[in-house]
Amino acid sequence: MQIVSGGVSDVGRLRSNNEDSFRILEPLNLFILSDGMGGEAHGEVASALAVDTIAKYCSEPKEDSGVTLLDGAPSQWSENTKRLQNAVRQANAAIFESAQNNSEQRGMGATITAAWADDSRLSLAHVGDSRAYLLRSGTLQQLTNDHSLVAEQVRRGIITPQQAETSEMQSVLLRALGAHPEVDIDIDEVAIFPRDTLLLCSDGLTRMLTEPEIAGALQAETNPSVAAQKLVDLANENGGLDNVTVIVASFREPPKSWLSWMRRGSAKKD
Ligand code: CA
Repeated sequence: MQIVSGGVSDVGRLRSNNEDSFRILEPLNLFILSDGMGGEAHGEVASALAVDTIAKYCSEPKEDSGVTLLDGAPSQWSENTKRLQNAVRQANAAIFESAQNNSEQRGMGATITAAWADDSRLSLAHVGDSRAYLLRSGTLQQLTNDHSLVAEQVRRGIITPQQAETSEMQSVLLRALGAHPEVDIDIDEVAIFPRDTLLLCSDGLTRMLTEPEIAGALQAETNPSVAAQKLVDLANENGGLDNVTVIVASFREPPKSWLSWMRRGSAKKD
């Protein structure tokens, strides 16, 4: 599978600093997005630590990673999925320890939504209320569950999705990296097909745009970098009340180089 991607992060129209971080590791087809929280500029510290730790862990040669692969992981999970889960555990520990050792960082934390694509499979690791979506045949499917108070209340039928959208409790997270020495990580594997589009985003996008608006923007633009910028622009046009970060990755058929080679070969004979 050929994968083309782009990402954009923007401070938005209200905030003075950007606490989101993202990283695209193109050679690995690894996509990482984190939304930090904490007083002063410590949300930025937390999200940068999350992204850096995961990028570093997943980039290291397997035999040098120094950490045994996960206890308790279902054996059918791919090596990438297990490594991604380990990487997120390390990111959690890095933020927690940094906050323990630096009193001004107390209370800082971060969301994480990371996706690692191999040929036909996407490994996902997720904590918090950033999101991963897959656009397939015009349908936008959310791949992650928000670990927020309002999302939990919706799941339990206590409030409606409409009430959740206007709730003052929207930013209350039930899970985040850095809050405790260990964290419960949502792990998943999803089959991917040519013409699928992956979207990772912070809540600064999903609070400013409806899902039909997001799907429409993704369908209207095939260049992932341009699509990411358009989504960020739309979030800012709709208010830009929060930092907004978007990663878009398009999965495509690999170029049929053998076919063009055969055509060239037959043309020579003529
Ligand atoms: Ca946010």
